[in-house]
Amino acid sequence: MSRVKVIAGNWKMNKTPSEAAEFLSELRESVKDIKNDIIAAVPFVCIPAAVQAVSGSNIKIAAQNMHWKDKGAYTGEISGGMLKDLGIEYVIIGHSERREYFAETDETVNLKAHAAFEYGITPIICVGESLSQRDAGITAEHIRIQVKGALVGLSAEQVSSLIIAYEPIWAIGTGRTATPEQAEEVCSLIRETVRELYSEAVSEAVRIQYGGSVTAETSSVLFSMPDIDGGLVGGASLKVKDFTIIAGYKK
Ligand code: PEP
Repeated sequence: MSRVKVIAGNWKMNKTPSEAAEFLSELRESVKDIKNDIIAAVPFVCIPAAVQAVSGSNIKIAAQNMHWKDKGAYTGEISGGMLKDLGIEYVIIGHSERREYFAETDETVNLKAHAAFEYGITPIICVGESLSQRDAGITAEHIRIQVKGALVGLSAEQVSSLIIAYEPIWAIGTGRTATPEQAEEVCSLIRETVRELYSEAVSEAVRIQYGGSVTAETSSVLFSMPDIDGGLVGGASLKVKDFTIIAGYKK
């Protein structure tokens, strides 16, 4: 099966709403002929400006997080309903920075994935090992646990449509990209885990990204690996030229 590549920029806590609008107006021109799926995950406050700036283009807007409850006494949180109302189509869930600094667990990742689907928002679920886990030889075990935990109770149809981002923590923001072989090994393990949990068809449909210091120089060899269906890109997604090269990957 040939899966459409999906390249998502994770802006993290960067750009004001006016900077987002300006950046996306430039980016939409720059990527207009690209056939891959292109997503920009912007800060919550940038969402209205971003949705407006990409209207009618081939760029979709994602949120970087959401709460699993519909509404209520959760000061500072944002629900799926609020995001959907603003035109959000994707949401990053379980990024390692959220797991590390904001106590996200496999359980909350799973709750958020269910909540995203309730609102018709596609989750981009992040998994990845730390350097000490890799050095201890427990990468495969850790990734399997994260994937299984994230997918509990999701239907075959839901899993076929979502995105899993493999992001080794030691590669995020460090300039130390995983080698294509290292990234492929884990992405293939993720696909195998989905096959065991669901079916061959679901594992062939689910899209798996690599993320971790992807650059305009390293993206094409990474994305050419059989189980890597694109990338989740942090730093390089903040530059129009670099992100255009990365998003424009062709076989
Ligand atoms: C990320 O934030 O998901 C990421 C992969 O960041 P960077 O590309 O900067 O390593």
